[in-house]
Amino acid sequence: MEKLLMGKVVKKSICLVLLLIFSMHNSYSGGYHYHIDLNTVDRDKLPVVLEISGIEEDTLVFYFPKAVPGTYSIADFGRFVSNLEAYNKSGDKLKAKKISKNAYLFPNAANLQKITYSVDDTWDSRKKKNKIFAPTGTHFDPGNIFIFNNAGVFGSFSGFEKMDFKVNIQMQSGMQAFTSSEMHNQGNGSIVIQTSSYEELVDAPVMLGHVDSDTINRNGQQFVINVYHERGIPLAGVLKPEMEKCLLAIEAFWGYLPITNYHFHFYIEDFTDVHEEITQKPNIINVYKNFRNIGSGALEHKHSSFYVLLDLGNNIVSSYLKDIHYMGFLHEVAIHEYLHIIAPIGLHSEKIGQFNFLDPQMSKHLWFYEGVTDYFASLVMLQNGMLDLELFFNKTMSEKMVYAEKFPNEKMTFAEMSENVLDKKYNKEYNSVYSRGTLMGLLLDLSIIHYSDGQLDLKSVVSHLYEKYGYKESFNDDQFIDEFLELVPDSVSRFFARYVTGHDPIDYNEYLNKIGISFHKRDSLEMPYVLGIDNGILDYKIKAIPLFVNGDIKITSTIADSDVKPGDKLNFFEIQDRLLHGISPKVALQDTVFLTVERNSEQFQLPFKVDFQKKVYRNYFVIDENPTDRQKLLRNLWMGRTNN
Ligand SMILES: [Zn+2]
Repeated sequence: MEKLLMGKVVKKSICLVLLLIFSMHNSYSGGYHYHIDLNTVDRDKLPVVLEISGIEEDTLVFYFPKAVPGTYSIADFGRFVSNLEAYNKSGDKLKAKKISKNAYLFPNAANLQKITYSVDDTWDSRKKKNKIFAPTGTHFDPGNIFIFNNAGVFGSFSGFEKMDFKVNIQMQSGMQAFTSSEMHNQGNGSIVIQTSSYEELVDAPVMLGHVDSDTINRNGQQFVINVYHERGIPLAGVLKPEMEKCLLAIEAFWGYLPITNYHFHFYIEDFTDVHEEITQKPNIINVYKNFRNIGSGALEHKHSSFYVLLDLGNNIVSSYLKDIHYMGFLHEVAIHEYLHIIAPIGLHSEKIGQFNFLDPQMSKHLWFYEGVTDYFASLVMLQNGMLDLELFFNKTMSEKMVYAEKFPNEKMTFAEMSENVLDKKYNKEYNSVYSRGTLMGLLLDLSIIHYSDGQLDLKSVVSHLYEKYGYKESFNDDQFIDEFLELVPDSVSRFFARYVTGHDPIDYNEYLNKIGISFHKRDSLEMPYVLGIDNGILDYKIKAIPLFVNGDIKITSTIADSDVKPGDKLNFFEIQDRLLHGISPKVALQDTVFLTVERNSEQFQLPFKVDFQKKVYRNYFVIDENPTDRQKLLRNLWMGRTNN
């Protein structure tokens, strides 16, 4: 999974698997039959009816998940359930006792035939504490859209997860349904969704409503893009070529696309008003008020991924930010989610393979599930020209470095954090999987390439293990690192001993130097600086708080003979883009560049003479232009260039 705030920042993740082998006599008619009528939603509460057959027990426990695979925090979906009642075959009410936040006990379950309850949607719920990450939650907006992440709608009997689940949904007029599960239209806006286990049901979100959809068809394979935009803007056609680009890059990296019947579900939240308010009055209270409930991000599934993204209005959509940042980050997120098919959806330990929805146990290997996945996402982009070497390091990795350094490695190892991530103390360090974890993926790759003299890399090792275990088999959580080490030169074990199961601070240069890259924590460098007194500008203001910078710089005062006037607007991202490539200058001292100036709603180009100034840079990388032959060879291998 991946948690996002305005394009970058934080991430998370899920997975799922488990095919069940059912003998024929088991599949006759027994199982769960759910009924939902979307017309009956009342004040965000959705009535649900469950009919049960083929489950004959004296006592039963019915539950909703405490957490779902791919998320590494407690959700307690049972909190959103109310008025649960149970009936026997004669229609008499049976005793139901709530035994925990998520579970109900039926002490006389022998004749249990029907359960009814209501669920509140998690997005709009008044429950402020422990808000559920939006891409994992539910959203009921009658007349427009229903988002079902099924853990928030449907329950299961403990011990009876591997049975048929059938869900009948009566939609509202004009609605369409999208899910990666088997689905049949019954006519008159009625659909049936079928899965052969609770895991499968929970692993396939459903979008029901006025959804814009488009399909990528490649060699008989289908990738469906479903977009619901709160402002009704049709975006599936816009996202289609972008997702296609991502899929081609993944295919080139991995050799093939492991899952080819796949849905990208996008929910685009309208944040134009909020953005407007924040940019007009950028103060901390305003930001807090508007952002405390944001849950933008994404969650992976075996045959789909679900994204909650923000529309910040035309100001952003048409600006530099959209072009150079938004699509770039969308690529990164989509590739990250799809790559989760390899791990943990594919390759995973028994903690995930036999996921316990009521009492989930966490694996030690978040360095792998999230760290390596996130690293691979950036590597896919690097190897396929979606990101160049300078930006790979001085944008992507440099941003991660800021957060990576915050991990309290003296207090806990990465493996400990991972295994205990549901505990508060460890959970607050979770986000380091997308910074320190990503960088660990990079260093591990370089370590493998170096010690194997370029014969192996991280991808080849992961690929070997993925082929070995597939989706159905789980590796042993305690033995995974040893098993991994059997496939690589002995010296790689130092990496795990120091950074995964050990407390060492990371020595980035030890590994980066193998490919002629060096990391610098802090240095003062001479860099291009366009806005200075030479250009006639005395003062400017960035017209937003950094979290929400839309790129606009408002000039507040200038010297008398300047072409720039007070009140003019320049774009910070455009300036960066014209002058700097990562941290390498794109221009020389005294060069003239043209920048867009906005004055009285009119835009025109004005010339600027480039000045250089000393500035302190933190967390930057220097790419050696003259690497040794060995550094050059290993760098090329790492970048996927096999020809030179
Ligand atoms: Zn993830």
